[in-house]
Amino acid sequence: MSATVIDGKAFAADVRARVAAHVAVLHDSHGITPGLAVVLVGEDPASQVYVRAKGKQTSEVGMASFEHKLAVDTDEATLLDLIDRLNADPKVHGILVQLPLPAHLNSDLVINRIDPAKDVDGFHISNVGLLGTGQKAMVPCTPLGCLMLLRAHHGSLSGMNAVVIGRSNIVGKPMANLLLGDSCTVTIAHSRTRDLPGVVRQADIVIAAVGRPEMVTGDWIKPGATVIDVGINRIDAGEGKTRLVGDVDYASVAAVAGAITPVPGGVGPMTIACLLANTLTACCRTNGLSEPEGLTV
Ligand code: NDP
Repeated sequence: MSATVIDGKAFAADVRARVAAHVAVLHDSHGITPGLAVVLVGEDPASQVYVRAKGKQTSEVGMASFEHKLAVDTDEATLLDLIDRLNADPKVHGILVQLPLPAHLNSDLVINRIDPAKDVDGFHISNVGLLGTGQKAMVPCTPLGCLMLLRAHHGSLSGMNAVVIGRSNIVGKPMANLLLGDSCTVTIAHSRTRDLPGVVRQADIVIAAVGRPEMVTGDWIKPGATVIDVGINRIDAGEGKTRLVGDVDYASVAAVAGAITPVPGGVGPMTIACLLANTLTACCRTNGLSEPEGLTV
């Protein structure tokens, strides 16, 4: 068997096009421009790349992009004050604080200062609670992107066995909640799970969010299963070069699975697309307007 490749890059382009179309309607019919504020503290190179990409794609879909770059030694009071001002700013519908923050800043305190209605990363404790209790929440972007890809590929996920490898607050736990919301039977695996290959072999859907290059191999996979690879790992490719790989050993898994997301070009592009979708959703909810279909849960 050779797996169908789930093209996250193409799907993300489609999400962005749908967001852009809805943004244009908001602008033309209601005079509203959704706005996303991104806060970056320090000069972490990877974070700078992400923030640049977010700003560019925000502008491309017709939204307002506000970037706030703060020095690495910014104190907590200054950062909290900025968040208070963004919370109060009617031009800002979404606020994202780029993680990780420098060690002297308390991430939980900072994230929980964001107005939950503007929390487009879905990390505020209120949104975590809403998602966990099956209520309307702002949903973390990466798991939302995975769910969109799964729904597009399968239609209904009801009754499927899903194994999520990884229990982080950013990916694993919200992913499990979303799959439960779609009536999957969900197992969350982690570093203490016994017989991980045996657990994964039960799955119709495998979500790999581990951070270990190519850990999941073809002999772990039930024939025909759908495999979503969240991992982004940069490995040595020899001759002083590096390359990106996922948490899944693509060649051996693609030979057994029914469908698979590649790295790069799978889940990665969906994350920023879902950030834009969340900003649009937040803007619609704030203004009491109907939400675009298919861009949130
Ligand atoms: P974390 O490091 O926060 O969590 C990793 C999880 O994997 C933990 O729950 C850990 O278990 C588990 N784990 C680690 N080693 C093993 C093992 N040997 N067997 C089973 N489970 C294991 O990572 P994130 O959730 O933040 O990210 C996961 C991956 O996804 C990374 O590669 C990251 O780069 C990528 N990522 C990609 C995004 C995208 O846009 N595509 C966005 C966010 C992340 P335990 O809790 O027991 O320690």
